[in-house]
Amino acid sequence: MIPVKGYAAQTPTTDLAPWDFERRDVGPHDVQFDILFCGVCHSDLHQIKNDWFPGIFPMVPGHEIVGRVVKVGDHVKKFKVGQLAGTGCMVESCRVCENCKEGLEQYCIPGSSQTYNGLEQDKKTPTYGGYSNSIVVNEDFVLHISEDVDLAATAPLLCAGITTYSPLRHWKVGKGHKLAVLGLGGLGHMGVKFGVAFGAEVTVLSTSPNKEADAKALGAHHFVVTTDPAQLEAAKNTFDFILDTVSAPHDFNMYLGLLRINGVHICVGVPPEPASIEAFSLMGGRRSLAGSGIGGIAETQEMLDFCAEHKIVSDIEMIDIKDIHAAYDRMVKGDVRYRFVIDMATL
Ligand code: NAP
Ligand code: ZN
Repeated sequence: MIPVKGYAAQTPTTDLAPWDFERRDVGPHDVQFDILFCGVCHSDLHQIKNDWFPGIFPMVPGHEIVGRVVKVGDHVKKFKVGQLAGTGCMVESCRVCENCKEGLEQYCIPGSSQTYNGLEQDKKTPTYGGYSNSIVVNEDFVLHISEDVDLAATAPLLCAGITTYSPLRHWKVGKGHKLAVLGLGGLGHMGVKFGVAFGAEVTVLSTSPNKEADAKALGAHHFVVTTDPAQLEAAKNTFDFILDTVSAPHDFNMYLGLLRINGVHICVGVPPEPASIEAFSLMGGRRSLAGSGIGGIAETQEMLDFCAEHKIVSDIEMIDIKDIHAAYDRMVKGDVRYRFVIDMATL
């Protein structure tokens, strides 16, 4: 086994703290890479707090992981020692179900192995994430990262990037479409960047009036303060798509009313509580409520290559790992500009 240093929550009510653990030895198809940076996703906080379901503890969060390869297994073909590597939200899947065969491992029918707070495919061994100094992953779930990019600012692409890229590609959002990005946080700011890159007319819907200048600097064409009834009224029946990145309970019926005919409200945010939806909100205007989860491995690589080519990275604020709870507190207040990234040298 390989000794690893990490930061873990021992229970849902204790703060993260240093924790030593072990990872498996590098198998024939495995890549081991030392972690240089790890992004901080709102999902990390949801999961250490058991917001969604009872988690597996101790929990080492982190699924926006980048670093440098230090060891490869005998049969590894895709990676060499010294190369950059990344891992997102999944480390394995069944590989044989119809979704896996289509490259949609995130929708693996028996269940993909989440990078942390999950189990390996043996359904017994817990997984531990990127708030740690090294990780061992099957080469098929490791992504290539260009040497030409800002590595720390690329880490968030592994979750916030692919989670917004994938639905915009699936619904072919682009020129001629009015796209609203609901919530300007980690996912939201990437949604704006991709929406603009794909040619859509992008509006940010935000509860934070002080984010308007940032939204425009990110490329958004319009900004609507959702707590202002007059601005909300003017936005009714206008959008083809809403990309909903909100992490907390919110009024879906109100936002559905902003869609024009045939509009699609795409949920990527995952609030802890179920929402109440009125059939009238969908029926009027033949609207759809849809959802999307991260992206498959091939599409994640496509997104990373697209970002390298188009010079797209995340806007980040680097933190020391000891400040993780201060970062979470700011994230909950909507005060993230626009992704915290942990410098793993501080572990
Ligand atoms: P984040 O950085 O905290 O951003 C969320 C943003 O939502 C906030 O900055 C805020 O933006 C807005 N917001 C917060 N509370 C709100 C409320 N009550 N009403 C309206 N807007 C509110 O979080 P994130 O890391 O982007 O993650 C967002 C959500 O996506 C989380 O639930 C996360 O678990 C989920 N997620 C899903 C996937 C997937 O595969 N589908 C992947 C990753 C993350 P404003 O200040 O602009 O209002
Ligand atoms: Zn995430």
